[in-house]
Amino acid sequence: MSDCIFCKIIAGEIPSSKVFEDEAVYAFRDINPMAPVHVLVVPKEHIPSADGVNAENSHLVARIFEAIPKIAAAEGLANGYRVITNCGEDGCQSVKHLHFHILGGKKLPDQMA
Ligand code: 5GP
Ligand code: ZN
Repeated sequence: MSDCIFCKIIAGEIPSSKVFEDEAVYAFRDINPMAPVHVLVVPKEHIPSADGVNAENSHLVARIFEAIPKIAAAEGLANGYRVITNCGEDGCQSVKHLHFHILGGKKLPDQMA
């Protein structure tokens, strides 16, 4: 997607602080961290949101969830962490490229919304 900020980050057209990359997945530090560790994990292929996951692309979500424990270990999150994806208007999704937030490095608030 030519106008997608995360596609531009994956392509290297916008700089990012990379923490992990393989053939299917890219992960980088959130520009506005909400916790001591705040990493965004995205599929290299543009999927608009969790609502765009289907039988054809769900293997990319599996690849993301294979990468997450590796990233968490590298970030020192042995005591746990939170994985979040915001979806659509009511979910307050601001970037329309599927991404999972990894948040950790402190005890996070025990609330969902
Ligand atoms: P959302 O609100 O869509 O779930 O999360 C989007 C996240 O992307 C936000 O936490 C925001 O700080 C982050 N973000 C937006 N633009 C950029 C950027 O250009 N670089 C980085 N590293 N993070 C960004
Ligand atoms: Zn994109």
